[in-house]
Amino acid sequence: MTEDLEAYLVRTAHRSLASYQELLRIPSISGLSAHAADCRRAAEWLAADLRAAGIESVEVSETGGHPVVYGDWLHALGAPTVLVYGHYDAQPVDPLELWQRPPFEPFVKDGRMLGRGAADDKGQVHAHVRAAEALLATRGRLPVNVRYLFEGEEESGSPNLESWLLANLGRLPADVVVISDTGFFQGNRPAITLSVRGMMYAQIDVTGPDVDLHSGGYGGAVENPANALARILSELKDRDGIIRIPGFYDEVVPLSEADRRAFAELPFDPDALRAETGVPALAGETAYTVSERRGGRPTLDVNGLWGGFQGERTKTIIPAHAHAKVSCRLVADQDPKVIFGRLRDHVLAVAPPGVRIEVSLLDTAQPMSTPIEHPAVGAAARAIAAAFGQEPLFIRGGGSIPVCAMVRDALGAPVVLMGFANPDDNAHAPNESMVLANWDRGIRAVCRMFDELAATAGLTPRAAIA
Ligand SMILES: [Zn+2]
Repeated sequence: MTEDLEAYLVRTAHRSLASYQELLRIPSISGLSAHAADCRRAAEWLAADLRAAGIESVEVSETGGHPVVYGDWLHALGAPTVLVYGHYDAQPVDPLELWQRPPFEPFVKDGRMLGRGAADDKGQVHAHVRAAEALLATRGRLPVNVRYLFEGEEESGSPNLESWLLANLGRLPADVVVISDTGFFQGNRPAITLSVRGMMYAQIDVTGPDVDLHSGGYGGAVENPANALARILSELKDRDGIIRIPGFYDEVVPLSEADRRAFAELPFDPDALRAETGVPALAGETAYTVSERRGGRPTLDVNGLWGGFQGERTKTIIPAHAHAKVSCRLVADQDPKVIFGRLRDHVLAVAPPGVRIEVSLLDTAQPMSTPIEHPAVGAAARAIAAAFGQEPLFIRGGGSIPVCAMVRDALGAPVVLMGFANPDDNAHAPNESMVLANWDRGIRAVCRMFDELAATAGLTPRAAIA
């Protein structure tokens, strides 16, 4: 009789933990050129691990930067195809003196694995390989077709991923993408991230006279760029937090009843947020709850503002120029370039005469959202509930993870963000750690997710099976 999946996981737990540590010992810091060989070593290590688990077509594929690790298993005839994305690279480690032990000498303490990459993202990548290994060892097959895509440049902004995806599209068809690079909710409550926000980052430059002018001699006759900039900025957002750029909300997908229920279920205390930030009162769109505003709605913020005299005491001038950095966090289906065009048009429309205005686009990121009603989200929720013994919350990332939209757009498949990191994982910081119970149950959740996806109607199998 073949061994039961759970019995296999228990029997191999010690070996799994040792191999997790082995992967963490490779200092694959993608942002530092001195670690390029380490990144390649981590890629080779993962490729060997995938092969040993029984994954096929494994290769370390060149990107022009650090390589991508690809592998697949495509023998689940008629079942959907899942593409699993993760990254094997890690953030730099300074300041070194704040680490309890050297960052690439992982160790277990108080039920956690400590070390750079323990949670972000090697632990989660490793959990995926363990899940495939256990399923193949005990059943001889996977319930769905799976493609693995492990990147080595995520922490450096994925500069080569998009071109690699486009060059390899022919062999990447998938019905759903699973990314395990996010975390649970406060208190380590199981959660699924439904969306991440996009970004539009612009600079507004206002110029007036050729040089700073005497405000006594010219005041009242020459427009002041700092006053003009203040007037422009005041036209961007009203007192109720509503953004006044015409057309700004046109493409915003409204929150559904289910979305709003999910937000309402989050154990979230606005007073605690107020206390944590030290502000006298919270702000934002009055028609939405604080939780909804933080992840489910777009924003507009002035990130920097300068111009004119900043020194001690007084200097009576009309400054020659004034500047602001302005960014918007965007939600589905807002397009950062379209939003930039509308911002620029609005700024030019409300600017007073007498100054020259330049508005430039500095950075963009596409938002990504998967509807709470999507069958793959339901499959992930059932898998997490089964593995962790608790129904997951549905959360939204306020920040931007450009890879999510990049993979979705390249493959044309919905993305499920099924990450298992504990929220106090210190990712990108000293003493990064993963709660071992999360890692361990994460392996089981991945196994269950594949079973659930195999049984889910509404996922069109479309991958060509060789
Ligand atoms: Zn990550």
